[in-house]
Amino acid sequence: MTQNPTDTRRLGGRVAVVTGSSGGIGLAIATEFGREGAAVVVNSRDAERAEKAASTLAQEGLRVSGFAADMRRPEEARALAQTAVARYGRLDIWVNNAGINVIKPALELEADEWAAVIDTNLSGCFYGAQAAGRFMVPQKSGVIIHIGSIIGEVGLPRRVPYTAAKHGLIGLTKVLAAEWARDNVRVVCLDPGYISTGLGVKSQTHGGAFTAADIERRTPMGRFGEAAEVARVAVFLASDDASYITGSHITVDGGWVAYGGW
Ligand code: NDP
Repeated sequence: MTQNPTDTRRLGGRVAVVTGSSGGIGLAIATEFGREGAAVVVNSRDAERAEKAASTLAQEGLRVSGFAADMRRPEEARALAQTAVARYGRLDIWVNNAGINVIKPALELEADEWAAVIDTNLSGCFYGAQAAGRFMVPQKSGVIIHIGSIIGEVGLPRRVPYTAAKHGLIGLTKVLAAEWARDNVRVVCLDPGYISTGLGVKSQTHGGAFTAADIERRTPMGRFGEAAEVARVAVFLASDDASYITGSHITVDGGWVAYGGW
């Protein structure tokens, strides 16, 4: 992968897109990528939110700009990839982070709620990966990171579409990794555990039926993760330090999945 020889930071000279990076884990990833030398396109469904996040990072001196795109729409995913290339000349890293959740018993779930989660968390990641792959495969280099979840590795009641989508991301990762490995495009899935973000808080208050204390008790490390702890693993996966990792899913969860107790 091309690197600027004068920039020795881990992502120096790279161009990255992080979907759903107006807040939470996506914003943390965009921040760490920028600090490691990448030019980053920050994304939200809303232009104002994308610009606001980008200008906050730009104030830190990072090379960042915003672009609105709804990842449920393939043509908007393509426009996001094209914008990164138009602004910065190439595309090296794509993070499919945008995600939502609807927490309800399976028997009560409406079809449009199922569709909203699957469209965002699974189809949107395929549209994003395809849009990125169309630049990366001919360029013969690139890294695509799917932000999955521990709920892509185990099942949890009342999270039917989220669990199905996150399990699906692991399959999507394996197929794309195998298809594009000879083209030097790596595809990996990063599965966070419970991380302090807006989505995490909403899960607790919108049907999640758990408290912060429940998570702290059930997680071997005894605490929520920080978005920056996920972001630093994303930096590693995006960097040449992870040059032989493709098709894998990497769990960042303080031991939650490993622990079989209550
Ligand atoms: P947040 O709700 O804090 O952020 C979600 C981001 O996704 C926002 O920036 C939102 O932007 C964006 N987004 C939502 N829908 C779309 C869309 N259709 N197109 C583009 N952007 C969209 O969530 P988190 O940071 O907590 O979660 C980020 C990812 O991490 C998700 O994939 C989630 O499933 C995963 N994850 C989170 C965990 C946690 O504990 N927090 C645990 C495991 C996985 P906007 O509203 O401005 O459009």
